[in-house]
Amino acid sequence: MAGKLAVIGAGLMGSGIAQVAAQAGWDVVLRDVTDAAARRGRQAVEESFGRFVAKGKLAAADAEAALARVTPTTELEAAGDADVVVEAVFEKIEVKQDIFRTLDRLVKDDTILASNTSALPITKIAAATERPERVVGTHFFSPVPLMQLCELVRGHKTSDETLARAREFAEGVGKTCIVVNRDIAGFVTTRLISALVVEAVRLYESGVASAEDIDTACRLGFGHAMGPLATADMTGVDIMLHATGNIYAESQDEKFAPPEIMRRLVDAGDLGRKSGQGFYDY
Ligand code: NAD
Repeated sequence: MAGKLAVIGAGLMGSGIAQVAAQAGWDVVLRDVTDAAARRGRQAVEESFGRFVAKGKLAAADAEAALARVTPTTELEAAGDADVVVEAVFEKIEVKQDIFRTLDRLVKDDTILASNTSALPITKIAAATERPERVVGTHFFSPVPLMQLCELVRGHKTSDETLARAREFAEGVGKTCIVVNRDIAGFVTTRLISALVVEAVRLYESGVASAEDIDTACRLGFGHAMGPLATADMTGVDIMLHATGNIYAESQDEKFAPPEIMRRLVDAGDLGRKSGQGFYDY
């Protein structure tokens, strides 16, 4: 189904989405606010392709052809003739709404507008446009070229046709999709990991088991690739606190109430791997 794709935001996720789409034959414009950022995004695609080629997982000629399909730009107008637009800018509702408002005026009538948001309500993003039925969440996971999942999220007015086209796009770039029928806080994936992390932190906080043992239980007992406390450290304790706090605020469900130790770690600057200390020492 390859056609023309515009990716708005050339950061970690945007460059990954551009990469898998270009590899699947899409012509991609990769837009960021500065020329340097847009070029960095394309550079990230090039480097990632290089690693696949070095490992023998991608032919050099295919990588070269795919890279040639990625055009960095600072012009939002470059999205004008896109069949699909995926937005992957900062996780700020005002920034996303502003982009969707402008895109709505620029793109073709039947273009679908997707957001890679991990938590913001698609309904609110869609409300900035005159085409809420053509707005959908396509929540890819990091690193995009390696992670199989794409969480498709329906806003209140997302049409069945839009969902089907989003699925066709995501499956076409090699992903397996799950559908989230209502854009509740945390969708499905963040909801599940938050519930597990909060319970793991409570067990740790109350001295029932050590961090290592809780993580070992999940790895060896359930076959998880990584335990919940190591996951919190990798994601960032601050990011996890924000995510669980948001879900709790919307749902008022006590199982998502962030445990005190999470706040204390964040207050102390112990954010996990990125600060060298979290539930574990790094
Ligand atoms: P990032 O900070 O790496 O990249 C964001 C990019 O957007 C930056 O390059 C920035 O310059 C650019 N940008 C900001 N405003 C813009 C505008 N008006 N037009 C064009 N570009 C603009 O962020 P990221 O980690 O790639 O996250 C992007 C989105 O994906 C967020 O909504 C985030 O919640 C979501 N997400 C992130 C992850 C993750 O693991 N990082 C996973 C899933 C979803």
